[in-house]
Amino acid sequence: EIVTSEDAISLENEYGAHNYHPLPVVLSRGEGVHVWDIEGKKYYDFLSAYSAVNQGHCHPKIVGAMMEQAKTLTLTSRAFYNDMLGKFEKYASETFGFDKLLPMNTGAEAVETALKICRKWAYEKKGIPENKAEIIVCENNFHGRTTTIISFSNDEVARKHFGPYTQGFIKIEYDNLEALETALKGNKNIAGFLVEPIQGEAGVFVPSEGYLAKAKALCEEHNVLFIADEVQTGIARTGRLLATCGNCTCADKHCSGTPEVKPDILILGKALSGGAYPVSGVLANDHIMSVIRPGNHGSTFGGNPVAAAVGIAALEVIKEEKLAQNAFELGELFREELNKFIPTCSLINAVRGKGLLNAILINDTEDSTTAWDICMALKENGLLAKPTHGNIIRFAPPLVITRDQLLDCVSIITTTLKNFKS
Ligand code: PMP
Repeated sequence: EIVTSEDAISLENEYGAHNYHPLPVVLSRGEGVHVWDIEGKKYYDFLSAYSAVNQGHCHPKIVGAMMEQAKTLTLTSRAFYNDMLGKFEKYASETFGFDKLLPMNTGAEAVETALKICRKWAYEKKGIPENKAEIIVCENNFHGRTTTIISFSNDEVARKHFGPYTQGFIKIEYDNLEALETALKGNKNIAGFLVEPIQGEAGVFVPSEGYLAKAKALCEEHNVLFIADEVQTGIARTGRLLATCGNCTCADKHCSGTPEVKPDILILGKALSGGAYPVSGVLANDHIMSVIRPGNHGSTFGGNPVAAAVGIAALEVIKEEKLAQNAFELGELFREELNKFIPTCSLINAVRGKGLLNAILINDTEDSTTAWDICMALKENGLLAKPTHGNIIRFAPPLVITRDQLLDCVSIITTTLKNFKS
């Protein structure tokens, strides 16, 4: 029987494939913004399972919906209809302003789905010859780690030695409209532009003001689908229901009426379930989604009744608790507080982000283990975060965090950095 964190870690190391490098903490319970390790130590969760737990750990409404549904019917596959899926499809479509939802389970699967939809649309609707469609993607993207997705990744650890790679992708610089225009011009085989509204895994890169809207306009001009991967940025994380929010119907004052971008294809995952259960999906209007016909695509678990019940509850919580607004306001406060601290600390040189998706940049040191060591020190002080790309630490707490809790976390972070000795 497992009694200590060390026991649990050695068990995983002995029997589990080593495809991750976790911080050495073994969690056994979560509630709201907090998680506890098996020794009973309490932490603030400042990763939220890579922005999946936006609604907080074990949200009673989401867990309740999941348990109720699990008692009634869990899986039929799509060989038959189930009485929950249509309700979820309607709710998600109306919430995000699209005609149709195609339900999947994970983020990477939903990205793959979007790529397939885009390629088939190119063939059927744009007249691009079979096998000729090309999709523009961005340098330093992260869209998952399936074989097609790694084909256009810059992450050598995820990509190298896993070839041969899938063809048909053109990579351009992120946040560079000229590069996009050049790629679009003179190439009639471009079908889509796949983009993260903020590059999360790359280290929370926020593009220039207006980039997304102008990129969308260029895509429209060239009859190319604008595909937004909001797996990490969506569902209130960046202070709006979507980071591309232009057409959402949520009631938050920071969330309505802002003329941004309406993607042709919207990819969601992670917090679409509040972390309770894998739920992802792709949204599009009829003229695009109609290219998918029976047998073209599917998944045994995609659109199962538990996922549908969880998805509805997860979106209701976002709206009822005004989590976009909370993320907007507390995100401003977080960056404000850290910006006050940065001039007093030689260890970090910037904080950047939107809403409650933020990162600090550790000053370049000889020692690349600094970010990891800072995360270890934060862990000692009761806050869990993880380095991304060497010298960047992302901070993404559940969006249910209160102002007092956030200020408490700012104090843990600044005290840890002040006292840090590498
Ligand atoms: N797209 C983006 C933008 C992501 O951040 C991630 C996960 N970090 C994915 C896709 C992949 O999601 P999943 O891990 O659920 O496959």
